[in-house]
Amino acid sequence: MPDIDRLRADFPILGEQVQGLPLIYFDNAATTQKPRVVIEAQSEYYRHSNANVHRASHCLSSRATEAFERARENVARFIGAASPREIIWTRGATEAINLVAHSYGRSQLHAGDLILVSTLEHHANIVPWQLLAQQMGARIEAIPLLDDGSLDQAAYLLLLQQGPRLVALTHASNALGTLNPVAQMTRAAQAAGARVLIDGAQSTPHLTIDVQALGCDFFVFSGHKVFGPTGIGALWARESLLDAMPPWQAGGEMIEHVSFKGTRFAGLPFKFEAGTPNIAGVIGLDAAIGYLQQFDRSALEAHEMQLLTRALELCSAIPGFSSVGTAPRRVSLMSFCIDGMHQQDLALLLDQQGIAVRAGHHCAMPLMQRLGLPGTLRASFAFYNTLAEVEHFAAVLKQIVLEHQ
Ligand code: PLP
Repeated sequence: MPDIDRLRADFPILGEQVQGLPLIYFDNAATTQKPRVVIEAQSEYYRHSNANVHRASHCLSSRATEAFERARENVARFIGAASPREIIWTRGATEAINLVAHSYGRSQLHAGDLILVSTLEHHANIVPWQLLAQQMGARIEAIPLLDDGSLDQAAYLLLLQQGPRLVALTHASNALGTLNPVAQMTRAAQAAGARVLIDGAQSTPHLTIDVQALGCDFFVFSGHKVFGPTGIGALWARESLLDAMPPWQAGGEMIEHVSFKGTRFAGLPFKFEAGTPNIAGVIGLDAAIGYLQQFDRSALEAHEMQLLTRALELCSAIPGFSSVGTAPRRVSLMSFCIDGMHQQDLALLLDQQGIAVRAGHHCAMPLMQRLGLPGTLRASFAFYNTLAEVEHFAAVLKQIVLEHQ
């Protein structure tokens, strides 16, 4: 078992006081905290290597370029990509999905084509497809949800009989924590002739990702949810697929030759990376995955699952508590409601006790509509959270509820 107390010392913000109390940070599904190595890697870059990448022949530019491209190799290994050319830097999962919708979607989809998403999706994996569908005259259907918060696999197989061109599916739900059987769902979709995009924003922080084992066509994730900086993330797809896709944004970096007669685009991965990239972000993300890889990630996951089990056990004894989403396979996230109490009020009262949780629709309004709820409270855990924090949180929650009921 990892030594959580020692590991917590790597995250300076975890020593922070809020409202004069020690911070308990349970909003990890929104963004994770950063270990010192990430903060220092970015600062070191600006102190010693800051220059634009790929362009100049001077020493600083070579240093920056080397670190930037080494990060691409490391991210490729981190998710099991066959080559760094398959890693496209984006601002995050949202931009990566938009890239696929613009480039792949506009060149490959036609009027009447079907795009499948699921009822569990974050808006980032719904709205880009809605815009695409409007532009192309395509249509969207949602894979329905069972009452336990898992996807209805029988209904999915029926939807596949309609021959969708694309299935866009989250690996783990940010609102309920449900882990979808994405490898199996991908095989079924591909057998029906669809390409599959997996949104890994919420799985990458908790699980070891292997895109080959998932078998999907596109995989996206955000750096800030895997203990890296904001403003950086990646799209993965096989080289042959990316090669066949047209560029989306245009400008410097993504060209090989420009004249007023026409432009020849650069090869992969640069074809999809117009303009000066987020160099410090890439370097910070590299430090974050390097940090994660020193641990046995299955041991971290086991610790996170203990946190979830304990939280559910303690909170179930609170009057009016109900857990939302009880699918058997979940990441470490507890979505819940308390009868007779508004989630925003509860989140504010918890904040006054130094506890950060999230209240609301979690950017998953269609899911909330399906559940018949305006929103939920969400306590989302990371490996640096402790059983003592969970126990304190449950005790504070209980006290608040008893005082207000
Ligand atoms: N997909 C899921 C499942 C998410 O939870 C999020 C963010 O919360 C996103 C996509 C969008 O990520 P970002 O805002 O980092 O682009």
